[in-house]
Order: sequence, then C-alpha cells, then structure tokens
Amino acid sequence: MKIEKVMVVGAGQMGSGIAQVCAQGGYQVILNDLKPEFTERGLGVINKNLSRQVEKGRLTDSEKQGILARLTTSTDLNDAGAVDLVIEAAVENMEMKTSIFSKLDKIAPSYAILASNTSSLPITEIAAVTKRPDKVIGMHFMNPVPVMKLVEIIRGLATADEVYQAIEEMTKSLEKVPVEVNDFPGFVSNRILMPMINEAIYTLYEGVASVEAIDEVMKLGMNHPMGPLTLADFIGLDTCLYIMETLHEGFGDDKYRPCPLLRKYVKAGWLGKKSGRGFYAY
Ligand code: NAD
Repeated sequence: MKIEKVMVVGAGQMGSGIAQVCAQGGYQVILNDLKPEFTERGLGVINKNLSRQVEKGRLTDSEKQGILARLTTSTDLNDAGAVDLVIEAAVENMEMKTSIFSKLDKIAPSYAILASNTSSLPITEIAAVTKRPDKVIGMHFMNPVPVMKLVEIIRGLATADEVYQAIEEMTKSLEKVPVEVNDFPGFVSNRILMPMINEAIYTLYEGVASVEAIDEVMKLGMNHPMGPLTLADFIGLDTCLYIMETLHEGFGDDKYRPCPLLRKYVKAGWLGKKSGRGFYAY
C-alpha cells in the first residue's frame, strides 16, 4: 500500500496542520474545504508556520518553497479521484462525517485508505457507510499538529492489518509517534482529557474559583503546561461540546454530561481562540 498522494478534507486548525506536516514529509497534498476563502486561510497559516521555521534556521527558503509546491487546494471532493489516502478533518459531527465518507467512498480509488481525524466519534460507525470498512481508520493528530508528536491510530472493527501497518508507517514518516488504540468513544486521549476540562468548566460554573485561578491551580499544582480552560479555548469549545456529547451518548453514563456553561458559550458563538472569545478574549 504505497501512499504518495493525500487529500486533507477541512482546512481549519487541524486540517491545515495535517496538510503542512504531510507536505513536509514529502507527500503530494490536496487541501480541501467548502469555500476558496477557507482553503486560502489554511494555506496562509501554513505559509506563516513555515516562514517562522525559516527564521529560526530550521528550514531553508528553498525547502519551504518545495513544501508549498507540493500543496494544492480544492473545493471539490471529486478531486480525490486519484489519491492514495484521504484524511478527513472537518467538524466533529457524525452526520457530517458520514456524509463526507459516503461521497469519498464513491470518488476515491478502490485501493485508497479513508482516515478520520475525529477526536471521539466511532470509526466503526463512520466505516459502515462505506463499501470499504477494511480501509477506514482513525488518525487522531494532536493540536497544534506541527508541534505535537502523538498520533492515536484507531482501529475500527473491520480495519485490515495491512491498512493499520500502512498508516503506522506513514505516521512515522511524518516524524510522529503512532499509538494504537481500539475504537471506543473518546479513544484514550479524550476519554481522559475532556472530562477533566468539563469538570474545570463545572468548577467555574459553580463559582468555586475564577477562570484564571482554575488555570493557575492546574498549571502550578499539577505541572500542566497550560490550564484546562486555556486548553479548551485552544481546542475550540464547539469541539469540546461535541466530544462530551459523544462520551455521554456512547457510554450512557451521566458522569459525562456536558456542563451547561459550555453549552451556553457555544450557543453564544464563543468558540475559544478561533472565534476571538471563549473563557478568555483573544
Ligand atoms: P475547525 O472548525 O478549525 O475546522 C473545520 C473545517 O472543516 C472548517 O474550515 C470547515 O469549513 C471545514 N468543513 C466543514 N464541513 C466540510 C465539508 N463537508 N467538506 C470540507 N470541509 C468542511 O475544526 P478543527 O479544530 O480543525 O477540527 C476538525 C476535526 O479535527 C474535528 O473532527 C475535531 O474533533 C478534530 N480534532 C480537533 C482537535 C483540536 O484540538 N481542535 C484535535 C484533534 C482532532
């Protein structure tokens, strides 16, 4: 299973980072989103990240140009007609993901692997809308993608061993560290992280302490590099809410109920750093 051409669907925070590391890893990359302004925004972020690496002497200008030359943009899923791998990084919503995967299944070559960067949604359920569940897999990158080493690789019920191995190898070629996990809501990372973030939001909601105090306690007391409310703003409060809903529904256990304050912020359009307002103002 040779992977050379990759399409990344969704050019937001995660998709643009995934496209960047794939192009840096030598792959030909098509960055897809719904509108040209979204792909342009993604490309702008990549350009800025690469320029910073040039300034720091980690990359030469000609290497930067080479990386950018391997990147093209698209607003049409039909451009997946000749790729070896698609990595979907659109919004964390099952209906959206199954609709994208059923379209991709008809467009991408029969040998192509379809991966999702979902933070929490069942890979098996996404795979079930395709005629190639053996070639569907989870590839969960961490934010910010160019910096973070971990990629959780999630096997769906039907994922073939050779598909797992191809993705594990590809992940290493991006200088990332793959960790194998099975398909349960939230996998490992968000099953543990997100209830902690949700509890931090409850702590704020119940007036136990201020935003700054909660973050300070977790930073200084637990040696976390950033507080849970800052982290929630970085992840995106909409994404945090989707993940809590997936855990709540998937396990049927009320210990995963999303905090009403999280819902309120998302309804207000306070999505964190990406919208300019969350627990903090940006
Ligand atoms: P984001 O809101 O920054 O970006 C999502 C992008 O997808 C947007 O540009 C949107 O226009 C695009 N999109 C929506 N529907 C589309 C479609 N049908 N076709 C093409 N593009 C479409 O979100 P994000 O933070 O990049 O998250 C994307 C995915 O990655 C989610 O599934 C999320 O759970 C997962 N994820 C997020 C994080 C994080 O920290 N934010 C970490 C790991 C995984």
